[in-house]
Amino acid sequence: MSSIGFIGLGNMGLPMVLNLIKAGHTVKAFDVNTSAMDAVLAKGGQAVFSALDAAEGSEIVITMLPNSSVVESVYLGEGGFISRGVKGKLFIDCSTIDPSTSRKVSAALEALEGAFLDAPVSGGIMGAQAGTLCFMVGGGEDVLSRAYPVFECMGKKIIHAGEPGAGQLAKICNNLMAGILMAGTAEALALGAKNGLSPKVLSEVMVGSSGGNFMVEKWNPWPNLMPGVPASNNYQGGFHVKLMLKDLGLAIDCAQDSNAAVPLGAAARNLFALHGSLVEGNEFLDISSIQKLYFANIDNYKG
Ligand code: NAD
Repeated sequence: MSSIGFIGLGNMGLPMVLNLIKAGHTVKAFDVNTSAMDAVLAKGGQAVFSALDAAEGSEIVITMLPNSSVVESVYLGEGGFISRGVKGKLFIDCSTIDPSTSRKVSAALEALEGAFLDAPVSGGIMGAQAGTLCFMVGGGEDVLSRAYPVFECMGKKIIHAGEPGAGQLAKICNNLMAGILMAGTAEALALGAKNGLSPKVLSEVMVGSSGGNFMVEKWNPWPNLMPGVPASNNYQGGFHVKLMLKDLGLAIDCAQDSNAAVPLGAAARNLFALHGSLVEGNEFLDISSIQKLYFANIDNYKG
């Protein structure tokens, strides 16, 4: 079992920490929101007063933070990890951030003989709670082998994507695709429904035809058509529009930096931005709520 420092106890970080504690690891946890640390204390973890305190004496340090600038400041900023000894420690950043920040952090730690992996996740809050996350990992294979036992307590799939930053790239590309697929699925269902076609029948057709995709099959955006998905729960839970906007923004920035074209990603980002800004609260609905943008009177839809 390892001694682990964990920073960032939000929707994702807290259930990840609880799974590490359940598996028998010793965890020192920190979040700027001190109330988030109560649950860690209640489950036998230790709450500390800073990110540096969490890293002190820990073999492995995991971060699960909101964005690139917070990650950069926690690692490289004044009073960040590099201001104290990092030699021999393994740092794992599970946040979704831009790949260039991951590469910068990795190089800075390696120069001081610390090891780093970027390991963003998919699977959402439910995956974090169930310990079934998918980790997309960037960094050396030797470094990844040290991290495996820890990943296995929090996830069921660990994919080595390549060099530092590759985990973030994989995550960004996947979510670019997810955003496009969700908007496309909602668009097709709305067109059919507006012309009198049953969304249920159309979904069946698409699942068995060339329009089939993960969204229509497993995350159907039409309300009350599929049990157990956010669309059957007033679009509560799932993956928030706000997070999709962040990830599509990262994809667009990455495209800009690499002179790549992402016209569909840009269109999807605009659609989610419009949807998110139209009605207060939309940003905190699941991404399948984009269906409402295509079918404004969907709440009265009688099929
Ligand atoms: P969140 O906002 O719920 O949690 C972030 C936590 O970080 C908060 O508790 C916040 O107080 C803490 N924090 C902020 N600055 C800090 C600092 N300087 N030091 C210590 N703690 C600090 O976000 P989340 O939903 O848990 O997501 C975390 C990361 O995982 C994000 O990068 C997100 O894009 C990614 N992600 C989220 C989901 C999801 O479904 N929520 C899915 C996949 C990936």
